[in-house]
Amino acid sequence: MLPDIEKLLQLQVADQEIRKLQEEVAELPKRIAVIEQKLAGTKAHLEKARAAAKADETNRKKFESGIQDLQGKISKYRDQSLAVKTNEQYKALLQEIQFAEQEIRANEDRILEVMVNVEAREKDVKAAEAELKAETAEIEKEKEDARRVTAEDQQKLGEWNGKRDGLRSGISEDILRHYERVMKFRRTGLAEVRAQKCMGCQVMLRPQIYNEVRIGDKLVVCDSCQRIFYYNPENDVITEESVGQTKKRPRPKADSPQAWFFRPDYGEEGEVFLVFTNKDGSSTRRTYEMHTGRQIGGVLQREGNYRQAFPEDLTDAALRLNGHWDESEIDEEWGSEIPSNVLDALLKDLLAIQREHRSGHKGHAAAPAEHSAAS
Ligand SMILES: [Zn+2]
Repeated sequence: MLPDIEKLLQLQVADQEIRKLQEEVAELPKRIAVIEQKLAGTKAHLEKARAAAKADETNRKKFESGIQDLQGKISKYRDQSLAVKTNEQYKALLQEIQFAEQEIRANEDRILEVMVNVEAREKDVKAAEAELKAETAEIEKEKEDARRVTAEDQQKLGEWNGKRDGLRSGISEDILRHYERVMKFRRTGLAEVRAQKCMGCQVMLRPQIYNEVRIGDKLVVCDSCQRIFYYNPENDVITEESVGQTKKRPRPKADSPQAWFFRPDYGEEGEVFLVFTNKDGSSTRRTYEMHTGRQIGGVLQREGNYRQAFPEDLTDAALRLNGHWDESEIDEEWGSEIPSNVLDALLKDLLAIQREHRSGHKGHAAAPAEHSAAS
């Protein structure tokens, strides 16, 4: 893994920690505001209940003094009735008395109604008072917690910011700028590659890109989400899906006129693809750098078929791959580089072999240089 990427991974941890702490600090006043709003609601409710209780008391007094007034009127009418001269006057007074008595009964009913209400009101006031007390205690506790957590967070933020600055100073400026731009929009600037997939955006990588990431000697960025790739072979799973085939890998034919091989150990070039073609009693060999597809050297021609002509190339480490392209196409269209679709197909087949090796089906994988095949 590139040292810059190792540092970026640590930087990403610091950046995420800093963001988490900043979000937590910003969240605390919001939580307090919610409780404060609830508290204001309870206070308003209590005041309303208290005002209603007071209004009841006023009404009760009003009805009571109304009764007293009516009783006064009645005794006055009674006195007057003793002195009346005519029957009509007496009847009229009697009616006034009856009316006043009705009014007294109505007031007594109203007082009773108020008294029934009073009980409910008292309960309401008491409940609101208890709620207010509990909420006040809660908000004090929340505020205390918020003060404590904020202080702790600020301290941690200071520490992480220090770490972050230290890490940043050790990373190349261009890479850092790219990382930060992607981080800003996507919350992460790096993405792991597993099973030929970008774990940041879940897009499949082309085999060539996957291969570059696995080699890890240069910076590779996801085409689709722009995150910087990193790779850990311990986490990788080469699945059926990742090599794009669910069926068993077809086995190359031993007697075909063209044969592709992979060699992981080809001198200074390291990993290469070799293609041999038999034609009219002689054979040719072309060599390509695996990662770039660039041709190495020219076309080598020898007498006899390639197995006889190039025995030094067909070592135990050589893996036979699937694939056939006409020699005329190779000469006229490819030039000095394998086209990317061909390179992808070869890499995909190589991945399939490695998958078969991992799952233990060694017998079905391309046998090293097909020693058993007589040719
Ligand atoms: Zn991606």
